[in-house]
Amino acid sequence: MEQYDVIVIGAGHAGVEAALAAARLGGKVLLTTVTLDNVAFMPCNPSVGGPAKGHLVREIDALGGQMGLSADEACIQMRMHNTGKGYAVHALRAQADKPFYHNLMKKIVENQENLDLKQLMIDEVIVEKNEVKGVKAETGEVFAAPCVILATGTYLRGKIVYGEVNYDSGPNGTRAPQKLSASLLHIGVKLMRFKTGTPARIDARTLDYSKMEPQYGDAQVYNFSFLNKVKTREQVPCYLTYTNPTTHKIIRDNLQRSGMFNGYVEGVGPRYCPSIEAKIVRFADKDRHQLFLEPEGLDTNEVYVQGMSSSLPADIQIEFMHTIPGLEKCQMMRAGYAIDYDCLDPLQLKASLEHKQISGLFSAGQSNGTSGYEEAAAQGLMAGINAMRKLQGKQAIVIGRSQGYIGVLIDDLVTKGTHEPYRMMTSRAEYRLLLRQDNADLRLTPLGQEIGLVNSERWSSFTAKRDLLERTLFSLGQTYVAPTEENQKKLAELGTSAIRSKISLLELLKRQQISYAKAAQAFGLPELPAVVAEQVEIQAKYDGYILKQRQEVAKALKLENKLLPESIDYRSIKELSTEAAEKLATVRPVSLGQASRISGVSPADISVLMIYLEAKRRKEEQ
Ligand SMILES: Cc1cc2nc3c(=O)[nH]c(=O)nc-3n(C[C@H](O)[C@H](O)[C@H](O)COP(=O)(O)OP(=O)(O)OC[C@H]3O[C@@H](n4cnc5c(N)ncnc54)[C@H](O)[C@@H]3O)c2cc1C
Repeated sequence: MEQYDVIVIGAGHAGVEAALAAARLGGKVLLTTVTLDNVAFMPCNPSVGGPAKGHLVREIDALGGQMGLSADEACIQMRMHNTGKGYAVHALRAQADKPFYHNLMKKIVENQENLDLKQLMIDEVIVEKNEVKGVKAETGEVFAAPCVILATGTYLRGKIVYGEVNYDSGPNGTRAPQKLSASLLHIGVKLMRFKTGTPARIDARTLDYSKMEPQYGDAQVYNFSFLNKVKTREQVPCYLTYTNPTTHKIIRDNLQRSGMFNGYVEGVGPRYCPSIEAKIVRFADKDRHQLFLEPEGLDTNEVYVQGMSSSLPADIQIEFMHTIPGLEKCQMMRAGYAIDYDCLDPLQLKASLEHKQISGLFSAGQSNGTSGYEEAAAQGLMAGINAMRKLQGKQAIVIGRSQGYIGVLIDDLVTKGTHEPYRMMTSRAEYRLLLRQDNADLRLTPLGQEIGLVNSERWSSFTAKRDLLERTLFSLGQTYVAPTEENQKKLAELGTSAIRSKISLLELLKRQQISYAKAAQAFGLPELPAVVAEQVEIQAKYDGYILKQRQEVAKALKLENKLLPESIDYRSIKELSTEAAEKLATVRPVSLGQASRISGVSPADISVLMIYLEAKRRKEEQ
């Protein structure tokens, strides 16, 4: 029997980050997958990032994860979204060359020291006395390890549905594990049934792009990775077209044949990624819906029709596509479908992503009820880190809600749970002004360094940037502009108002019209790298708001630091509402802060717990 430190079941976006993190932290790692041909496979949209998801990718990169670097290399179009809005919602989104991304990640995994990649169907997680011992494959082989990370995505008891067609399968016809769910239920893991869907893939040669609006990438070269490795990039356009009332009529007339409505789909689907059928029903007043035609890669004719996920029969999908401008003669290469799959109820997990009752069992990705490559990769990274820290006897790493979107994601899952595929959104982050995508490295790279995932190249580039930023902010705060005639003239040329008394350059930079570049030209300041100049401007202009948000964080931290003993019998505290006692006993929050975020636990219940803790403290003192 081969012995490992960590075994990862699943080489999707979660599994790859988990395995790389554990191996890079010195663990002997086995990474398994149903087929080697789907390592870091993108079964759905050929893109990485966008609002909130782009923030996650930047945070993964800042901590020393892989997704950001690979997405930059596989990128065939990059855009910074929401530039017309505040910096908190600026977000990068890359169109990715799917086959290239898969090959690149597979190569990285295959060449990672301490990591074995195997094509193996895992049927069983071996647990003795609530401790993980290893896994058993369908071949009968047993692999031993004290830590197992579940990253099974949308595969567990996968069932594909479109129209009357339905069969057991993972995405794109890969085999679906049928036995692992039973093994998980047997060891006491609670499972849920979720669903997600994807649109058809159509042949680019059969499209009339002249009837669509091209969407080009940004001229400026952006990267997810703070290592900023890609300097130039060949970009291809996407295309925008719309459905119309004829499209909607065909769909409406055939709703009963959709997997969503004929009962073949059992699982709960994603609210924020609805199928075209669901959109037609939910937004019946709309006479058109946007569709983005996204190339799946440079060396394929497959085009992904974003916004048109469907589980209607293939013939109906073709019929309604032929009503859409530019798609009148399109050839469908793959039909859209829905997929049902098993996933875990994340309320069973600690914030380290380890199971509360089964020591050494971690879970990450879609198997925790989330949806999205980025959400999966973020969880995978944390599960890989924490599995190794468990083995090294170190405290688990839990990122706070004021430190990162990764913290918001995991805290939401393990504290509130989810009844549908959970997708990250900026509105979920109460401190989003602090959690911008532009400062993910300032927030998290020192932690990545402490963990041991930040290599010397990243550390030296980060410290150079941080130190230059700090020096610049300090010197701008110490450099004053006097209300001389010459300066008033400069201010007028900068399009800003005159000053009555001397003002620091940092104060001046708070003015909307003044960028660092303009101030540098006017007052002879040193040129700065673009990423540092951007930080200087943001920190100057948002200073007041950032300060206010930091005060809110400090207030909330008071409750976060009020720890709750693991052994509390919530049901014996009569003053708590029945619902609160039930929920607290299920989630077993580590702090009053976490308790306050559990739905059904009221501020009154929190006061009861505060009194309980105070009484307990006094008694112990006596
Ligand atoms: C049809 C479809 C539509 C989707 N639509 C969207 C969408 O609209 N928006 C969105 O954000 N996300 C969508 N997704 C989800 C997105 O693909 C996933 O969020 C992401 O791939 C999850 O990554 P993961 O690593 O958790 O799992 P996956 O990428 O699913 O990888 C799971 C891995 O586990 C392996 N595996 C599973 N069971 C076993 C076993 N027993 N033994 C060995 N290996 C095993 C598989 O081989 C695979 O490598 C969709 C996915 C699918 C399939």
